[in-house]
Amino acid sequence: MTIHLIQPFSVHGRYDDFDTRQVKRALSRLGYYTPDTRAGMDENRRPALFAALNAFRRDKGLPESDYLMPFDSTVYALNAAVEKHGNASRYVWRTRKDDRVRDEHAAREGRIFVWGFPPEGGHPGEDFNCRCWPEEIAEHKPERDRDRVCLDLMNAHNEVDAKIQEIQKQLSEIRNEISSREEKIQALEVQIRDLAVASVPNPVTGKSKLGPLGAIADVIDAAAKIYQIEQLREELNRLEKELKEFERQEAQLEREMAAAHKRRKDIEEQSRVLCQNFYG
Ligand SMILES: [Zn+2]
Repeated sequence: MTIHLIQPFSVHGRYDDFDTRQVKRALSRLGYYTPDTRAGMDENRRPALFAALNAFRRDKGLPESDYLMPFDSTVYALNAAVEKHGNASRYVWRTRKDDRVRDEHAAREGRIFVWGFPPEGGHPGEDFNCRCWPEEIAEHKPERDRDRVCLDLMNAHNEVDAKIQEIQKQLSEIRNEISSREEKIQALEVQIRDLAVASVPNPVTGKSKLGPLGAIADVIDAAAKIYQIEQLREELNRLEKELKEFERQEAQLEREMAAAHKRRKDIEEQSRVLCQNFYG
């Protein structure tokens, strides 16, 4: 089938019955439109038709709108899709399975038909007041579903890559903080140890070389050093607390990193199975 629109039509404006049915047929063949349960492939219910039409447009990267023009790119895309979908492709005839189904159609329930060879009275939903519909056979649907799945996987892969880079950046910042704290702590420990040694009277000489006054000066000097040590110890405690906090953050980021890597591996595994072309 090839669509030739007689006139432009819109979701709420004027329309041609034959035009509406042509577009419904094409969309139904492509799996976008299911005929109404009561009326079949009639000329009404254009909001549902335009919803299906816009779903098709989205998949084809065409702009959505409430109109369809005779030489619209959508019409070309529909014809190309129907052509590509192939007249050789098949569907299962489905009926509403109630007592209003005409006998000829009831006999077709569950049988497979080929789009290129319409049975008497046409494909499901095409005959007057027919409420039957064609059920797509999985041979085309997975292809379209797969494209969508692969696109989602590719996006997910890009996202997780960006996330890994972000975590990497944060981790290297945190690790800089950690090593700068560690250096400062080490330097402070050396300083404190040296001061502690200097504040204790020399055990060998025992006394100050400067006599009694010198001994008093030594005591004062020792007190000053002890005070200085206390100051440095406070600074050391502060740095150790900061270090601990940074190490906690580092561990958290490492867990996030491991989770992101696992997610990326899962995505790549799924892509390898479902969409070889995406990741080679
Ligand atoms: Zn029917």
